[in-house]
Amino acid sequence: MSHKLLYYFGGKKAEGKAEMKELLGGKGANLAEMVNVGLPVPAGFTITTEVCTYYYKNKKKYPGELKKLVLQALKKIEKEMDAVFGDRTNPLLVSIRSGARSSMPGMMETVLNVGLNDITREGLIAKTSNPRFVYDSQRRLIQMYSDVVMEKAEGLEPEEGKGIRHQLETELQKMKTARGVKNDTELSADDLKELVDIYKSRIQEVLGKPFPEDPMQQLWGAISAVFSSWNGKRAKSYRRIEGIPDEWGTAVNVQSMVFGNMGNDSATGVAFTRNPATGENIFYGEWLPNAQGEDVVAGIRTPNPINEIGKSEHNRDLPSLETAMPAVYKELDKFQHMLEKHYRNMLDIEFTIQNGILYMLQCRVGKRNGPAAVRMALDMYKERLITKEEAVMRVEPSQLDELLHPIIDANAERNSKPIARGLPAGPGGGAGQVVFSAVDAVEWTKQGKKVILVREETNPEDIEGMRSAEAILTARGGMTSHAALVARGWGKCCIVGAGSIDVNYDERLFSADSVMVREGDWITLNGTKGYIYLGQLPMIKAAEENPDFVKFMELCDKSRRMKIRTNADTPEDAAKARAFGAEGIGLFRTEHMFYGKNSEQPLFLLRKMIISGTEQERRAALDELFPYVKSDIKGTMEAMDGYPVTIRTLDPPLHEFVPNREDERKKLAESLGITLDEFDVRADALHENNPMLGLRGVRLGITYPEITEMQVRAIFEVTAELINEGKNPFPEIMIPVVGMENELKDQLAIVEKVYNEVLEKFKMKKINYLYGTMIEIPRAALTADKIAHYAQFFSFGTNDLTQMGFGFSRDDIGSFLKDYLSKKILPVDPFQVIDREGIGELMRIAVEKGRSVRPNIKIGICGEHGGEPSSIEFCNSLGFAYVSCSPFRVPIARLSAARAEITVMNSAPKPKKKISKAKKTKKRR
Ligand code: ADP
Ligand code: MG
Ligand code: MG
Repeated sequence: MSHKLLYYFGGKKAEGKAEMKELLGGKGANLAEMVNVGLPVPAGFTITTEVCTYYYKNKKKYPGELKKLVLQALKKIEKEMDAVFGDRTNPLLVSIRSGARSSMPGMMETVLNVGLNDITREGLIAKTSNPRFVYDSQRRLIQMYSDVVMEKAEGLEPEEGKGIRHQLETELQKMKTARGVKNDTELSADDLKELVDIYKSRIQEVLGKPFPEDPMQQLWGAISAVFSSWNGKRAKSYRRIEGIPDEWGTAVNVQSMVFGNMGNDSATGVAFTRNPATGENIFYGEWLPNAQGEDVVAGIRTPNPINEIGKSEHNRDLPSLETAMPAVYKELDKFQHMLEKHYRNMLDIEFTIQNGILYMLQCRVGKRNGPAAVRMALDMYKERLITKEEAVMRVEPSQLDELLHPIIDANAERNSKPIARGLPAGPGGGAGQVVFSAVDAVEWTKQGKKVILVREETNPEDIEGMRSAEAILTARGGMTSHAALVARGWGKCCIVGAGSIDVNYDERLFSADSVMVREGDWITLNGTKGYIYLGQLPMIKAAEENPDFVKFMELCDKSRRMKIRTNADTPEDAAKARAFGAEGIGLFRTEHMFYGKNSEQPLFLLRKMIISGTEQERRAALDELFPYVKSDIKGTMEAMDGYPVTIRTLDPPLHEFVPNREDERKKLAESLGITLDEFDVRADALHENNPMLGLRGVRLGITYPEITEMQVRAIFEVTAELINEGKNPFPEIMIPVVGMENELKDQLAIVEKVYNEVLEKFKMKKINYLYGTMIEIPRAALTADKIAHYAQFFSFGTNDLTQMGFGFSRDDIGSFLKDYLSKKILPVDPFQVIDREGIGELMRIAVEKGRSVRPNIKIGICGEHGGEPSSIEFCNSLGFAYVSCSPFRVPIARLSAARAEITVMNSAPKPKKKISKAKKTKKRR
C-alpha cells in the first residue's frame, strides 16, 4: 500500500485535504478541508479507500496494522472530545460513515451513536441529565445497526416489508399510536426506554442473535459493514449506471458524535449555498429541531425552512432557523459563504446544532438542474469567483438540453406525484389534454387546444398528429423507437415505453395502476425524467426567451474553435437554427422538396422525370422541374445569407418516388403520353433488390448527367441572382455516396461546364463556391488522398459511414442492438456516439490523407453525430472546421465544442510557466 491507512481530522488541523478524494473519499477529504479552513468539525479519522481494496483482495481481511492505528486514532479523538469510548461514566459515541470518491446518494451506509449500550447509557444520562435524549439515541443506534450491520452486511435479503428496519419502525409506530402521539419527539424517556427493550427482543426473534452490547464489537461491525456496503446490490447497480469503477472502493469515516436530539436548542439540517433548483444566489435549506441524522432527508417530519427568504407557500407557517436561533443562523450563514468562496462552487452542506452550538458535518459540490447550472455559472463568473472557461465547464450538455424546452416549474413538480414512469425520450415538459389518435391531435389543435398524443406506439402515419401535439406518450418502445427519434429531432417532449400504462383505444382511456385517464383529461409530462403527472402543472419558458441562456451561449462562443452549422432543408428551419446560433448549413438535402408541404407539383415533375424513357423526355421533365428546384434552394440560401450553405445533390434511390396509387400512375402516364401498361413496365424496370446500395447518390449523376446539370445550374443561378440582389451567398456543392476519385472527377466536369455557362448568362466574372464530397463510404475514407484532388471539402456522413463500416442496417439495428448493449459487445449505440476505434479510425485516415494532398481542405461532419457531445469532442480533436446538426441541437453543439476546446487547452502545457522559467534563467545570468 502506497499511503497511510488512516488520516486523522479534528481540532485545528487535519492530515488530509480536499484534493485527496481518491484516497479519502469525497466525505473524508472535505471533512479534512473544513477542519483546515477552521470550521467546527467533530474530530474523527478516515480509513482510506486503499484499505477497502485490500479488504476485497484479501478475503475480507484488514491489513495487520489497522487495528492498532484505529485504537491510536480513537485515543486522539478521546483527548480532543474529552470523553472515552466505551467508558461507563464519560462515554464517547461515534458515527461510522461511508464515503466513496464520487457521491452515491443513498447507496452506502451510515451508523450513528456507536458505543452506546445499557451500561454506557447510564453514564451518558448522568453526564447530560437528559435521559430522553439518551434512550432516543440508543433506539436509533439499534435501528440502524441491526439493519446495516446485522442484516444487509450479512447478505440477508428479506422480502419487501420484512426487513428488520421496517419491523422496528413498525414497533415505533405502535408505540406512538399507543401513546396517542404523532411525532417521535413526543415520546417520553420511559417510552423510548421500553422501545429499546422491545427492539432488542425483536432482533433476537427475527435475526436469531442478540444485539451486540460491546462497544468495540459495534465499532468493528459497523466499519466492516460500510466496506461490505460497497459490494451491496444497490451500490453495485448504481455504479454500473453511473459508470463508477468497482475498483475505486469506499473510505470509512469514524467521527465523534454531536447531538441534534438533545432538546429544542438542538437541531440538524441540510442546506445549499444557492438554490439548486433555480440557481438563485440565496442560501437555501431545511432543518429540524430535536432531531438526528437523516430525519430531514427521510421525511419523518416536515422540515422547516432555514431562512425567511427561502419560505414557500408550503412551509410559510413553519419556523425558520433564522428566527428560531438567530445567532446560530448567522454563524451558519457566515460558514456557507466562506465555504462557497473557498470551493468556488455551490455546495451542499450538512450541519448539526448541539445545545446551541453549531457543528459542520459534511460539504460537497451540490447537484443542480440545468437552469440552475447555467445561472450559477454566469453569476459566479460575474462575481469573479470563476473564469469564463470554468463557467463553460460547469454546465453539462445534457443540462443545457433541459433549457431548450419549456420545463415544468420545479416547485410545482416537487409537490406532485407521478402516476406512471417511462423512458425520457424527448426532454422538457409538456402539458395538454389527452387524445388517442393522430387525427384527433390535428383536429383538436386546430380548435386551439393543447393536446398530448397517447399511443401504444407510433408509426410514420402518426407524424402530423405528433407534430401538432404538445407532447407524446407511448406505452411501448425504447429510446430509439419511432416516437423517440421523431420527437428528439423536433425537440419535442416525449416519453416512451411507459410500461405501466394500459391504453384502451376503444374506450378512449388509459389506466396507470389505479388511475383512469380519459380523452380530454389534462396530463403533464416531464420528458427529461420520464415522469407522467395528472393535471396541468405550470411551465417555465424555453431558452430563446431566457436571457441567462443567451449570455451563457456567448461565453461558450468565446472558447470554441469549431464553427457550428445546421442541417436544414427549409427557410423556416434555417431561420430557427440561426436564432440558435448556427453559422451556416452543413447539409441541405435537395430531395426534401419532394416531401411534405407544397410538394405535389415538384413531386409530380420528378416522377415524370423518373419514368422518362429517353434523355430527351428526361430533359423536358427536368426543365419543368428546374424553377421549383431554384426557388427551393433560393429560399433557404436567403435565410442563411452571409453563411456557407452545403447543398447535396439528389441522394435517394429514385424508385422510392414511384407512386403506387392507380390514379397517380394514370395521370403520369397521360402526361408522358404513354399507356398505363407501358408506365408499369418502366416503373418495374427501376425496381432494385437493395436500393440503398443501388442507383443513388453520385451514381444517378453518372447515369443521368442531366440530373446533376439541372441541379448545379439551379445552384449557380440562385447564387448569381442573390449576388445581384446585394446578398452574400456562399454555396458548397456536395456530391453524395462517392467511393472513388473518378466519380468526383466525372461530376466536376459537369459542374465546371455549367459554371461557365451561368457566368456567361449573368455576365459575371466569378462566383465563389466550393466543390466537395461526403465521406460516407469506407472506400472513400481509405482513398481520401486521391479524392482530395477533386474535393475542396469533405463532409463526413457518419450515419452511412457507420452503417457501411459496421455492416449494420440503420433501420434494422433495433432488433439486436439491445442484446449488443446488454452483453457489452458494444458500449453504446454507434449511430448515436461515434465509434472512435473503428469508424473514428476511418475518419482519422481520411482526414490525414485528405490533408496530405490539400493541406487546407475544409472538413466537417453532417451526420447525426454532429449534435452529440462526445462525437463533437472527437471531431474537435481531428481539427474539423465545423460540425453540423439539427437546429435544436445547435446550442448543445456550441457548448460541446467549447468544452472540447477548453479540455484541450487545459491539458496542453501551460505557457505561463515557460515564461516565468525563462525570466528566472535570465535573472540568474
Ligand atoms: P450520507 O452519505 O447518506 O449523507 P452521512 O454519513 O452524511 O450519510 O450521515 C447522514 C447524517 O447522519 C448526516 O447528515 C448527519 O446529520 C448525521 N451524522 C453523521 N455523523 C454524525 C456525527 N458524527 N454527529 C452527528 N450527526 C452525524
Ligand atoms: Mg451526508
Ligand atoms: Mg448518406
